[in-house]
Amino acid sequence: MGNQKNYRNLITGGAGFLGSHLIDRLMDNNEEVICLDNYFTGRKTNINHWINHPRFELIRHDVTEPIKLEVDRIWHLACPASPVHYQFNPIKTAKTSFLGTYNMLGLARRVGARLLLASTSEVYGDPEIHPQPESYRGCVNTIGIRSCYDEGKRIAETLCFDYQRMHQTEIRVMRIFNTYGPRMLPNDGRVVSNFITQALRGEPLSIYGDGSQTRSFCYVDDLIEGMIKLMNSDQVGPMNIGNPGEFTIRELATLVLQKINPKLKLTQNPLPADDPMQRKPVIDLAIKELDWEPKISLNEGLDRTISWFKTHLID
Ligand code: NAD
Ligand code: UDP
Repeated sequence: MGNQKNYRNLITGGAGFLGSHLIDRLMDNNEEVICLDNYFTGRKTNINHWINHPRFELIRHDVTEPIKLEVDRIWHLACPASPVHYQFNPIKTAKTSFLGTYNMLGLARRVGARLLLASTSEVYGDPEIHPQPESYRGCVNTIGIRSCYDEGKRIAETLCFDYQRMHQTEIRVMRIFNTYGPRMLPNDGRVVSNFITQALRGEPLSIYGDGSQTRSFCYVDDLIEGMIKLMNSDQVGPMNIGNPGEFTIRELATLVLQKINPKLKLTQNPLPADDPMQRKPVIDLAIKELDWEPKISLNEGLDRTISWFKTHLID
């Protein structure tokens, strides 16, 4: 799985949480990197340390518009990922998912690049099968408040496979399960960043619903390792990449409180519409085909994330 070639990489959404960690890995591997972002949820501070590096370029661009570039690999991550942000302008989210993926596949086809799509466990919706293997086709509401994102990613996957069938475009489709770590936006409303920032500010932790819903949390370094392995492999996917450890939201809150301030309270808030009740990946395919599985426990990953937030909560 060694990566000896000096690939020219385009990372859409490269100034975001996952994109910026991917860029760090590719730069450390001596590759060429073009970071493309419209800064909707991305931040220049995430990639500041590479500006002026001869192998790094930064382009402000919106993926809903076409662009011409010469690249070997496209890591297509551009799309708001947290419910607060993707619901801010749901029509734009749907456009980003469809037009953005269409434009990047067009680019991949034109220049013969390989494209990896950052898809999501949300394609399984509120799953009736637990845990979720790649073969499960999902239970998704087409008209709800999460649909712009869920259905957007589903049509993005469809586009990838139609480009492969019609034009032999090289695709890799990765279904990412909840990922957390340094550089999450403190205000993005995701549960890990919310709980950590609330606890650090001495506020009660906001549980939505009764907190019995589950999620499986993958530390960002593990996730990026899986992403790179998938891109370098001969597997097309779709492939689940996530940590199969499953926790209720109440268990997560308790863990964060233990680490930061056990005296803080939990508040119960309404459960948002269509919030999936359970989520846990089957990762047998990634273990078998990529020799990948997550190494960092929630306990260790939370420690690393908390220590990052302690020094970055102000900016
Ligand atoms: P993020 O919001 O931090 O990053 C998304 C990036 O895309 C941001 O930098 C944003 O400014 C940029 N962007 C958004 N719309 C754009 C547009 N129209 N044109 C150009 N750039 C645009 O989110 P993230 O957590 O880093 O997620 C990255 C990708 O991974 C997303 O596609 C997301 O759907 C997927 N994903 C993430 C998770 C997770 O838990 N983090 C889970 C499943 C899937
Ligand atoms: N959640 C919560 N409190 C918060 C933020 C989220 O209880 O402050 C819940 C949310 O309702 C969901 C789970 O935590 O059941 C994960 O939410 P997140 O937005 O992080 O990810 P997603 O729902 O997209 O998996």
